[in-house]
Formats: sequence, structure tokens, C-alpha cells
Amino acid sequence: MNTAQNLKNLYRDTVLEHSRQPRNFSRLEQADRTAVGHNPLCGDKITIYMKLKDDRIEEITFEATGCAISIASASVMTESVKHKDLNQAQLEAAKVINALNRKDGACPNDGDMAAFDSVREFPSRIKCASLAWKTLESALHDSVEKVTTED
Ligand code: ZN
Repeated sequence: MNTAQNLKNLYRDTVLEHSRQPRNFSRLEQADRTAVGHNPLCGDKITIYMKLKDDRIEEITFEATGCAISIASASVMTESVKHKDLNQAQLEAAKVINALNRKDGACPNDGDMAAFDSVREFPSRIKCASLAWKTLESALHDSVEKVTTED
């Protein structure tokens, strides 16, 4: 596959659609948890807001500026963890981050995250796709430290 085709795959319809019309894109007043993430290589910035009920994510929203991949990944993230309990969300975040960093050819993710498979060919874009999930992990841990893709 040539580079032009790879780039086209990178911006598959699912990614474009989520970046143009991100789900759950808003500030959540009186959030129980918030977390801030930054990908300095690309300039992506995200804030995640989460409302909990018992140990379940009742509401999750985000605000972000950045590239299409980072916005789309955040949109998919909020959809996939909303209503999950904190443990399930933690497992999902670990699974996605692991899958995005896998070097072999296996299809690592399912659902809308499968659209992000081709970012694995572009190491700098992996950080764009991972940012929302790393920031989610921080919110789940109730960490006050700002997330960065560079550590
Ligand atoms: Zn980016």
C-alpha cells in the first residue's frame, strides 16, 4: 500500500464523521471528576468531565482542541465508556492503548475504535489517538496530575 492510500485510510469515514460531529462535546457543570491532557507534539488538548453514580460513569463529556484524530478518538471514547463501571472503563482504556501500540498486524480494536487501526503506521498519530484514553485513565484514578503524551 502506498503512503497516499495509507493516509486516506487514516482518515476513514468513521474518524471524519466523529471529528466533524463529536459526541458528548460539552463542559459538564459540577463534574465529579475532571482530567486534562495534552499532546505537545501535535498540539492536541483535552479536558474530560465525568459524573459518577456509585461506581458507574453516569455522564462523560469532553472539550478539546486539536487534530481530527484526537477529537474523533475522544468522541468514540465517551460513547464507549458511558454507563460502564470504573473497572470496566479502566480495562477498556488499557485495551485500547495497548492495541494502538501493537506492532503486529492483528486488528487490535473493535467498534468505532477499529477505524483507528491505521494510525499504528504513524507513530506520532498514535499519541493523538491515545490522548483521550490516557486522560480517561487519569480521571478514573482521580489524579490531579496533568496528562501528557510525552513523559
Ligand atoms: Zn493530534
